[in-house]
Amino acid sequence: MVNFDVIVVGAGTAGSYASYLLAKAGLNVALIEMKRRDKVFKTTGDAIGIHHIERMSIKPPSDVIMIRYEGAELYSPDLSVKYVVLGKGFGLDMAKWAQWLIGEAERAGAHIFDNHKVQGPIIENGFVSGVRVLKPDGSTEDFRAKVVIDASGVGAVVRSRLPREWWVSEPLLPEDVSNAYREIIQVDYDIEKPEFIKIYLDANIAPGGYWWLFPKSRNTMNIGLGLWGKLSEEQGLNPRHNYDRYLANSNIRGVGR
Ligand SMILES: Cc1cc2nc3c(=O)[nH]c(=O)nc-3n(C[C@H](O)[C@H](O)[C@H](O)COP(=O)(O)OP(=O)(O)OC[C@H]3O[C@@H](n4cnc5c(N)ncnc54)[C@H](O)[C@@H]3O)c2cc1C
Repeated sequence: MVNFDVIVVGAGTAGSYASYLLAKAGLNVALIEMKRRDKVFKTTGDAIGIHHIERMSIKPPSDVIMIRYEGAELYSPDLSVKYVVLGKGFGLDMAKWAQWLIGEAERAGAHIFDNHKVQGPIIENGFVSGVRVLKPDGSTEDFRAKVVIDASGVGAVVRSRLPREWWVSEPLLPEDVSNAYREIIQVDYDIEKPEFIKIYLDANIAPGGYWWLFPKSRNTMNIGLGLWGKLSEEQGLNPRHNYDRYLANSNIRGVGR
């Protein structure tokens, strides 16, 4: 059995940054991540508003930022209406971002347990007193702490396994989920206005959500779509299928002109 002040489950952005802050404040922190450390990476659109990063008390190194944005262009379904929303942002290299944040947590003193999978909370006398962990060698071990933070994202490995009558108990409902798929592609032409991310509302391509084209450089783009989880469940919609059907072979270059 291992004892900590705080256990943080999941070394994504939320978990790593929380671990950094808590360890820096002098607490004994365990950051538990099921993936191997060098494989921690989130598939996203890679775009983030600059205000989020400005609120952090640490600044990312320059190689984490691939492109700077001036705003977003939002397109109506028939592309006839375009709203331009100004606001600065970054296009990130998410692999470097993840490794940088885990490193910051570790440098602040957090203990990193990668390749360790949390199986669920340990509940004693009406409190969460720790988590049960599957270790790389196949054995399990109980980690205990005064506080457990569930930062396991959509995994929801702690909060979805609490007694239903607890107000913090939170099952993951399809209506709260967006199912998404994206690819990063290189093109042989200059992307128009790469300093603007582009968001398209289209009920065929991305029902209940949107599809996006986020430039990563003059010739590289992150392109994908997200569907409302409830529709995915009720109608069997799959974002990869819609990507292949509508976006993979489309004349992306002409979209929104
Ligand atoms: C395709 C796509 C595009 C997106 N685009 C954008 C975008 O452009 N901009 C933006 O701001 N947001 C975007 N998002 C949303 C963004 O990715 C999430 O909001 C963000 O990653 C959430 O961070 P997190 O730390 O809470 O969770 P996550 O990043 O999901 O991290 C959770 C971590 O917990 C670990 N974990 C899970 N279960 C366990 C377990 N049992 N034991 C141990 N570890 C566990 C996982 O391996 C993971 O490392 C996008 C999401 C997707 C899917």
